[in-house]
Amino acid sequence: MSLPDRVHPSTAAAQALGFTDPSTGAFVPPIQPATTYERDPDNRLVSGRLYSRADNPNYDQPEALISYLEGGAASAVFSSGMSAATAVFSALRPGDHVLVPHVIYWALRGWLRGWATTWGLQVEFVDMADTAKVAAAIRPGVTRLVWAETPANPTLDVCDIAALASLAHGAGAILAVDSTFATPVHTRPLSLGADLVMHSATKYLNGHSDVIAGSLTTRSVNELWAAIKLVRSQSGTVLGPFEAWLLLRGMRTLFVRVPAQSRSALSIAEHFSGHSALEAVLYPGLASFPGHAVASRQMQGGYGGMLSLRAKGGAPGALRFIGKLRIWKRATSLGGVESLVEHRASVEGAQSATPPDLLRMSVGLEDTRDLVADIEQALG
Ligand SMILES: *Cc1c(COP(=O)(O)O)cnc(C)c1O
Repeated sequence: MSLPDRVHPSTAAAQALGFTDPSTGAFVPPIQPATTYERDPDNRLVSGRLYSRADNPNYDQPEALISYLEGGAASAVFSSGMSAATAVFSALRPGDHVLVPHVIYWALRGWLRGWATTWGLQVEFVDMADTAKVAAAIRPGVTRLVWAETPANPTLDVCDIAALASLAHGAGAILAVDSTFATPVHTRPLSLGADLVMHSATKYLNGHSDVIAGSLTTRSVNELWAAIKLVRSQSGTVLGPFEAWLLLRGMRTLFVRVPAQSRSALSIAEHFSGHSALEAVLYPGLASFPGHAVASRQMQGGYGGMLSLRAKGGAPGALRFIGKLRIWKRATSLGGVESLVEHRASVEGAQSATPPDLLRMSVGLEDTRDLVADIEQALG
């Protein structure tokens, strides 16, 4: 890193920690597609690198930048957010007890109820937004991991990271936080006491709907971290070098994109709060939102670019409404430059706990007035 020691996060992101390529002076890193690395005549690895299922030169910068932004000791990029998340659980042992939230990213919930449970993890779902319920569920000396997601997908439930960290630590467990919705722009879970931070880098970190990637950041390099890195290299859930390169490019604009998306989301939420065609607007930035006080304490500079609208008339009302949208795109995923809307209950199917009238909205970088007008005409 060629930047002064402590610069603001937006400076670190814009300059990718001040990297210049030593052989060319380029500010943009080269892409290294090699799978294997030479040994010298004494059979020593020339660069210390062996094989690209362990790591790749194109990981160095995105991992260093994510560590800097999260204030962590080390980071690892993965082939997806799901492979990052499941690496944490896979680094535990069968029989270990874990507490996970009721409102949790849908595919991870499916994996925890299916694969992880079959393998022998004791997975217990709790209302992570209710610290008293977590305190009642945690088993001192038995619970190994508390997993939180805040704001949560798709109801935007907010949980209190600092309170959960002290509960977890008091019981001898660690706290991991899926911070995909908050991004390091708004929340730094490690500074609030969490031990691990996970991102679906597919979303805001990359930000352009063109890479599937994940990341983990640890507070300290310890046995668990070594086990997590081993899961990545043994199971081969490695990111491609081009995807790692794109991720770094995307992160350079993180501190411009996310604040703009958060401002836009707040004005959309305020504009439609109390609208006669809606049951509710779910957004942590609204004073009326149950998690608002905690969110205001642990989020800086905004409440994120995600909100959910609950339409009148149940699922049919919700689907009628989004069918009329012309600017918002009907598609899954989030965190990109284009605004997306999704009827989550349709995607999640019969087992879903998501309200059938809920529409998850990912606010992009379009003019807020166009986004508001589009919702107005579709509701009207
Ligand atoms: C998308 C998402 C994930 C999963 O990430 P992928 O990159 O799609 O594997 C996990 N958590 C949250 C909150 C997400 O939005």
